[in-house]
Amino acid sequence: DNANTARRIRALDPDVVNKIAAGEIIVAPVHALKELVENAVDAGSTSLEVLVKEGGLKLLQITDNGSGIDKEDLPILCERFTTSKLQKFEDLSSIATYGFRGEALASISHIAHLTVTTKTKDSSCAWRAHYDGGKLVPAKPGQTPDPKPVAGRPGTQITVEDLFYNVPTRRRAFRSASDEYNKIIDMVGRYAVHCSHVAFSCKKHGESSTSIAIQTSASVVDRIRQIYGSSVANELIEYSTADDRWGFKASGWATNANYNIKKTAFLLFINHRCVESSNIRRAIEQTYSAFLPKNGHPFVYLSLEIDPQRVDVNVHPTKREVNFLNEDEIIQAICEHIRSKLAAVDTSRTFMTQT
Ligand code: ADP
Ligand code: MG
Repeated sequence: DNANTARRIRALDPDVVNKIAAGEIIVAPVHALKELVENAVDAGSTSLEVLVKEGGLKLLQITDNGSGIDKEDLPILCERFTTSKLQKFEDLSSIATYGFRGEALASISHIAHLTVTTKTKDSSCAWRAHYDGGKLVPAKPGQTPDPKPVAGRPGTQITVEDLFYNVPTRRRAFRSASDEYNKIIDMVGRYAVHCSHVAFSCKKHGESSTSIAIQTSASVVDRIRQIYGSSVANELIEYSTADDRWGFKASGWATNANYNIKKTAFLLFINHRCVESSNIRRAIEQTYSAFLPKNGHPFVYLSLEIDPQRVDVNVHPTKREVNFLNEDEIIQAICEHIRSKLAAVDTSRTFMTQT
């Protein structure tokens, strides 16, 4: 055959499509972790325990005390686009829960061994199911794939083992389990600060000490103290501002001019979802530059609630970034508010040192 002969076009096998999609959504263990934490919070959990082995590549286990999953839903739980959170396309604009398109568990089941143990409050026992490639599979070859009754407390435990076992190039790209573990700790820490009535713990498998242990009753400042240290927690200012014109409410805690570090610590939640925004980060750094020494940076926790009608969460499957209307006006209003707070503290400090 010569090289110019047209090759026939064929549809990809659905399993291949799903594996490609999964690799885009779950690039590293922390992305699976984030989806599982969001699901647990969506389920109304007040306690969330994370267990990690080899940076999440060997084991990632999240145990919550939330609503649980109906036994009847277990057969379709890990199919792509199965969700209890979205029905119509228009629902995307008013969605209040973290997830909304039923892709996380499906993705994970295509690139890892996934086990779900769950109990609703009305069920007399817990049910355990194993998944591979979106479908229920037997625990051991030859057994039936049906969910098995087991003893268990209300809530859900999701166990993800051998992440990327069938994507060898991705698996090999991870050089350091401790780097991956640090990303997981960072993400759990962010949610632990934001979800203020939820207890969080995170630890490495086989170690008795926890990396994160936050009680349900801990205040936001206590949470920040336990995760980021007293040097941050002792210098925090609370702030809160809103503007109906732009349909937003912003609140949080930020360090005053007495504190600075080499790199900005920025915890950003938009409509209760942890996201990145280089525009907001840059504007906040700009605001602080007038108050901090050269190369000094702040700690800022910002919870931004925007009228869902003005937010486009659907720009990317990972939902790591979102677009919203009047971004410039909103950023300016928030920074102006933080500036006024910083200036107020700064004057009182100058006044005190003078007397
Ligand atoms: P999404 O969160 O976008 O709906 P997921 O794949 O993350 O998609 O989850 C699919 C469904 O499984 C959810 O809609 C929810 O009904 C259920 N689910 C997942 N995790 C939990 C959990 N920890 N507790 C209760 N239900 C859960
Ligand atoms: Mg989800």
